[in-house]
Amino acid sequence: MSAEPLPQSPWQTATISRIEKRTPRVTSFWFQPSRPFVHQAGQHVDVRLSAPDGYQARRSYSIASAPEAGAGIELAIERLDDGEVSPFFHDVAAVGDEIELRGPLGGHFIWSDSDGGPLLLVGGGSGVVPLMAMVRHRALRKSAAPIALVFSARVWDEVIFRDELIGLDDRRDGFDLVLTLTREQARRPADYSRRVDARMIVQAIERLPKAPVLAYVCGSNAFVSAAAQAMIDAGIPARLIRTERYGV
Ligand SMILES: Cc1cc2nc3c(=O)[nH]c(=O)nc-3n(C[C@H](O)[C@H](O)[C@H](O)COP(=O)(O)OP(=O)(O)OC[C@H]3O[C@@H](n4cnc5c(N)ncnc54)[C@H](O)[C@@H]3O)c2cc1C
Repeated sequence: MSAEPLPQSPWQTATISRIEKRTPRVTSFWFQPSRPFVHQAGQHVDVRLSAPDGYQARRSYSIASAPEAGAGIELAIERLDDGEVSPFFHDVAAVGDEIELRGPLGGHFIWSDSDGGPLLLVGGGSGVVPLMAMVRHRALRKSAAPIALVFSARVWDEVIFRDELIGLDDRRDGFDLVLTLTREQARRPADYSRRVDARMIVQAIERLPKAPVLAYVCGSNAFVSAAAQAMIDAGIPARLIRTERYGV
């Protein structure tokens, strides 16, 4: 007997309620959906832009906000200068605009505090976005699940959510932030200035009270392939590793 097809998430309009520049290349957009919207940390939405001639472009964006944040859905979008959709958001979209959106989508790359921990999260560039939803969910739920986040960015100024992440790290309540900069010297004593590798993953695991029960990695195809391999080389069983690839 074949399984029941999953119900298709319908398109709906959502209004941009706030825009905030995060880094020189990444801006956050908050959307107020017109219909009730309940998501889990790690999920994404699809947005659809339509031209007057009927041409449509559709892209996926992870949700940065925690499910319980309650101020709309935050998407953090990196500008690709030669891209089609991301420059629209950076150059054209304004507060009050209505955008077509559907979701929440994705049932594998998700975490809830009821899933427990410890967790190892590894993000490259804008790949930190769904991991941020998990980190925020942990903080808002006052979850005791230990989390180590290894976040790779090119330079210090491109560390998305930097102040918020360092503020959460400073609490010393079981959330541990490791920054690694690939084109600049590390600024904090425990940070790195190289690409993610197995030794870095081993040291991140050592910061956790016990081995991770789940490991998440998100970013470009190349980043996810390299970081997932580093996790395996560091001894994390492949069945515990969940990946989300953003494309090129
Ligand atoms: C599940 C998921 C979640 C995501 N979450 C986020 C997020 O939170 N934040 C975020 O910033 N992005 C996210 N992305 C990526 C996002 O969906 C878009 O891919 C990204 O914004 C680029 O879209 P664009 O239209 O600006 O660029 P595109 O027009 O899609 O172009 C992307 C790149 O591909 C190149 N390219 C385009 N067409 C071709 C071609 N035919 N041949 C060769 N190269 C080509 C372009 O030069 C450009 O550099 C996510 C992707 C997925 C799948």
